[in-house]
Amino acid sequence: MKVLKFGGSSVGNADRINQVIGILKKQYIEKGEHIAVVFSAFQGVTDLLITMSKKAVSRNESYKIDFDTFRMRHHEIIDGLIPKSKSKQVKLSVDELIKELQELLHGLFLIGERTKKTQDYIMSFGERLSCIVISEALNHKKIESEFLDSRKLIITDDCYGSARVDFDLTNKNIKNHFKKNKKIQIITGFIASNDAGQTTTLGRGGSDYTAAIYGAALKVSEIVIWTDVDGILTADPRKVKDSFPLKAVTYQEAMELSHFGAKVIHPPTIIPALLKKIKIRVKNTFNPDYKGTLILEREDDIEFNVKGISSIEEINMITVRGGGMVGVVGMTSRMLYALAKKDISAVLVSQGSSELALTIGVLPEDGKLAKKCIEEELKYEIRDGNVSEISLEKDLSVIAVVGDDMKITPGIFGKIFQALGKNGINVYTVAQGASELNTSIVIEKEQLKKALNVLHDSLFLSKVKTLNVFMVGPGLVGGTLLDLVARRLKYLEEELHIRFKLVGLANSKKMVFDQDGIVISDWREVLENTGTRMNSKKYVKTMKEMNLANTIFVDCTAIDLMVPHYKDILNSVISIVTPNKIANSLPYDQYSEIQRAAKQNEVEFRYETNVGAALPILITLKDLIANGDKIYKIEGVLSGTLSYLFNSLKEEDSFFEIVKRAKEMGYTEPDPRDDLNGLDMVRKLLILCRETGLEMNLEDIEVENLIPEKARKAKSIDSFFEKLKESDEEFLKQKQAAKENGKVLCYIAKYENGKAKVGVEEIGEEHPFYNLRGNDNIVAFTTKNYLDKPLMVRGPGAGAEVTASGVFTDILRISNYLSV
Ligand code: ADP
Ligand code: ASP
Ligand code: MG
Repeated sequence: MKVLKFGGSSVGNADRINQVIGILKKQYIEKGEHIAVVFSAFQGVTDLLITMSKKAVSRNESYKIDFDTFRMRHHEIIDGLIPKSKSKQVKLSVDELIKELQELLHGLFLIGERTKKTQDYIMSFGERLSCIVISEALNHKKIESEFLDSRKLIITDDCYGSARVDFDLTNKNIKNHFKKNKKIQIITGFIASNDAGQTTTLGRGGSDYTAAIYGAALKVSEIVIWTDVDGILTADPRKVKDSFPLKAVTYQEAMELSHFGAKVIHPPTIIPALLKKIKIRVKNTFNPDYKGTLILEREDDIEFNVKGISSIEEINMITVRGGGMVGVVGMTSRMLYALAKKDISAVLVSQGSSELALTIGVLPEDGKLAKKCIEEELKYEIRDGNVSEISLEKDLSVIAVVGDDMKITPGIFGKIFQALGKNGINVYTVAQGASELNTSIVIEKEQLKKALNVLHDSLFLSKVKTLNVFMVGPGLVGGTLLDLVARRLKYLEEELHIRFKLVGLANSKKMVFDQDGIVISDWREVLENTGTRMNSKKYVKTMKEMNLANTIFVDCTAIDLMVPHYKDILNSVISIVTPNKIANSLPYDQYSEIQRAAKQNEVEFRYETNVGAALPILITLKDLIANGDKIYKIEGVLSGTLSYLFNSLKEEDSFFEIVKRAKEMGYTEPDPRDDLNGLDMVRKLLILCRETGLEMNLEDIEVENLIPEKARKAKSIDSFFEKLKESDEEFLKQKQAAKENGKVLCYIAKYENGKAKVGVEEIGEEHPFYNLRGNDNIVAFTTKNYLDKPLMVRGPGAGAEVTASGVFTDILRISNYLSV
């Protein structure tokens, strides 16, 4: 025989109930399986009963509207299950019960008082009604069944709201009943009665427990909990999207998980099953062929390798501090006893080895009273100064990481705390259950969802790491980057185990967010069609509020729209990647504030593409410094345009002609003066110098402006070219002078002996830049370790494709650093 239980989620409406009937037939009855079936109230009905009674007792007449809804829902379900000719009769018998409820509510309204006892009685209508309706529906479908009111059989104490079962009496009653009644019993979950016959309940969600009580009494072969998910999942699927079903968990693991908030199974359910070693299976009504999760004793041939994470959304922590607590025996038990006397249960207890402080976690509704009880219990210790402080902290959550193999898995704690730390989640306190299969971590409530996802990723999906990327500026570089990512998604996931989720995107006009990830190949349409008006402040606010794990902000704009927010973003433990040079060329104090924010929050600020696009220039410099090398000299041609102009000048004589051709070929900025003024190279040199630790500003770099004096103020580009032509002679003279010395001209950014300058130099054959061709960038680092032959990086240093790929590399580098 098997006991089955279908929760409220499985019986939300007539269609669902029909689905349940289909399962009963196909999976059990047609196979000749003997079953008894426990049902909860229809979905939401218990909540509605509580709401109605609360309203009635506070003389809020709107309870009557709820009551009409309540009645109508039951009628609708009857109509959906039973043909008209018969439904009238069923409705009549149901209405009798409903009428009694109505009178009760009216009574509450008049008296204005509601006890726990009445509340239990009112709640009992939910299960009584659902089971009457379902048993009628079954009979109508020629499945012979009988309504069984558990109040007749399950006997409890008087602890209304969460009564304790008298198993001796209950087991006897159940066995007797089943000996005499052979039809399929349709059993009310959740409700019971005391020995005086008054209605009690087993605690919210208690129908699971009812099933276990019947299952254990009848020593069935299996208890099956049918619900709306595929079993016990690695985490609450409403909070962790990537959670997945576990194949099997031990009774102890299931107990710990449910105790710490895994609603899928009501905590006491496990005990009766465990005592009789009856297996519990959790299955999905909406995916009935899936095998679900098995709860059982450890068996060698069953895989139990995974753990689960559950959480209690809100917990209060009471911390008792004082030097006088050291070595005093019995303090903890006295406090716990003081709480127990008031029916307050301690969710967790944590004491540091120093014994200077003890922390007890209780449910929020118990917080104030718990503090008072402990203060009362320790009043003499407080008077004598042995206890200096008793504090109550709210707005905290507790996460439990549960798994039998926790104690034998090396490095698991390191993994947990590293993952939380890298995402800026502070751990308030940690407690480990005596069983060692549960580690509880208390954190701020507002970090709960992020922490759950971070831990889930790192403990279960250690193969796949999700990056949550927010981008601004899908222009030339940004757009190319997105197209590049779209092509590489599969590779990223399969080879690098990275899931790249674009969760935020904005251009200058619109912004769009999607926690599940924007389909990257469709980013243009998504932004255009669903974007709202872009506002940089709002963008950052939303990004912070989404509070996702492993977040990277990518600024692909060339303007200072987002730069003022960098510090705030880094302080929110979000890494930044950008090809934008503005932040790094700000005045030194502002620049260093941004850099400091990254360091303090232990997040990454990466801008490799600021110098030489995708060429590994900055990272090489960083590595040299990290290795303890001494930087003596940095020389570089850090502009593709200027490289082209001076390399061409080696073969040709007219600088004017070269610039003109470069402009026509699109090698220059729209106004070539933006290249020729040398400022772009100055910025890049500044960034390199700052990287070596120099407190330098733009003004500290001497720059030779290549625009002839008279061309600087030219009103149009045409007139600029005219003036440039007039100066051709001078360029030629300079070139000839160099040539006579066997040298060529080169526009170089250079740092040496504390001095930085950008300008034209004559260089001879021995110089590493003498043979530079085309529009390549080149950098030479002369250091203590690379003294005679400098360390060089050379290659194409501009263009959307290479810059985008450089930005992409930075993102991947951050992913190595972020938690898994
Ligand atoms: P029922 O109405 O069938 O009793 P519940 O709503 O009480 O169903 O419990 C099922 C719900 O429990 C799921 O829909 C899911 O949202 C939630 N839940 C929380 N933690 C877990 C977990 N670790 N595994 C599965 N479900 C969980
Ligand atoms: N109907 C009850 C509740 O909502 C019991 C249950 O669903 O298990 O708490
Ligand atoms: Mg439930």
